Amino acid sequence: MISPEQITFDQQHIWHPYSSMINPPPIYPVESTSGVRIKLADGRELIDGMASWWSAIHGYGHPELNQAAHEQIDKMSHVMFGGLTHEPAIELCEKLVSMTPANLDKVFLADSGSVAVEVAIKMAIQYFHAQGLPEKSKLVTIKQGYHGDTFGAMSVCDPVTGMHEIFTGQLPQHFFAPAPQTKFHDEWDSRDIAPLHKILDEQHQNIAALILEPIVQGAGGMRFYSPHYLKEARELCNKYNVLLIADEIATGFGRSGKLFACEHAEIQPDILCVGKALTGGYMTLAATLTTQHIGETISAGGAGCFMHGPTFMGNPLACAVANKSLELLQRNDWKQDVARIEQSLKLGLSEASTLKGVAEVRCLGAIGVIEMKEAVNTVKIQKLFIERGLWIRPFGKLVYVMPPYIMQDDDLNQLTTGMVDAIANYIG
Ligand code: PMP
Repeated sequence: MISPEQITFDQQHIWHPYSSMINPPPIYPVESTSGVRIKLADGRELIDGMASWWSAIHGYGHPELNQAAHEQIDKMSHVMFGGLTHEPAIELCEKLVSMTPANLDKVFLADSGSVAVEVAIKMAIQYFHAQGLPEKSKLVTIKQGYHGDTFGAMSVCDPVTGMHEIFTGQLPQHFFAPAPQTKFHDEWDSRDIAPLHKILDEQHQNIAALILEPIVQGAGGMRFYSPHYLKEARELCNKYNVLLIADEIATGFGRSGKLFACEHAEIQPDILCVGKALTGGYMTLAATLTTQHIGETISAGGAGCFMHGPTFMGNPLACAVANKSLELLQRNDWKQDVARIEQSLKLGLSEASTLKGVAEVRCLGAIGVIEMKEAVNTVKIQKLFIERGLWIRPFGKLVYVMPPYIMQDDDLNQLTTGMVDAIANYIG
């Protein structure tokens, strides 16, 4: 049981994500998690609308994931991946190669989403360097994107909403096209792609890759854009010899209603990043996949290898859990679960659109978003959610949920009803 002294220690000494050391926000101690519920130390149970930031797709404490972790830890928790290999990593890479778009067959196991993005950027730059084109080293991206908190990743986050404005002067300067304006269900307006086309036309000699979050822009705005944009972006990349990096760290493994969001546009990226749900939210693991051609071109270059190799690469414990998580995903008919959640979110959140402080309500796959007209006071609104037995963590104007795929109708109903009620109460 966490003591009040431990909470004080936490607030005085421990950084939480985007936290302050002089004005720490309220922090809620968690005793345990199970299924779709988070049990607080004071005994209150909350329905989890966040799936621990998109990751806990099978819910918490899944018996089969627990068993996979136990079995693996008894054999081998970790061993270096340099010069050694093991079954959990091989099995996982076999699964990833077979699940992801058909052209992707070289896998780099990374330790977090941000690192997977760094790896993707390095692959793209090394690919052109190896061909004697070192000037093709810049990136192009779309505004309102989010790709992580490390330096390479920060450099392609939205310069304003990407939360890294302070570091702008220290970051490599890349090219930014406006965010796509055609929404997911809207009729395609071909003018939407023109600014990206112009950048590629003028700068392609300097550009290695286009990096974007396909279809769903997550932490940079929770926006769902047209598959036509993605399709045309793919064609432009082909035309201008620019690689396409799809950051599916948030969307991968079914969240948007397709196994990978690229499938909405029926396109294949040259490099794909996955993470978050890969281990079912059990531990940190990510992967960057690329094609045989890119893998071989990089390796045939002056360096003779791909220049990256972290200490915990291919961690066997994480790989073993990821293997089980992917097995569960396929066995549990994720598609039906995500479709069911989408219906429930659409129905349950629609009422919010009539509230006066609400700008828009939108849902895609197992993602439900209520965009407010003004940024919300997170502390105040979170208290209202907790009073209603819910764990939801908004940011800026965005109040959103992406529940575990196992969440059943009663809990979904309580989640959406409570969410709308708390917002109504918040607006007053
Ligand atoms: N890319 C996307 C699309 C993300 O949503 C995130 C995390 N929110 C990241 C990259 C970074 O992943 P991580 O937090 O695991 O470093």
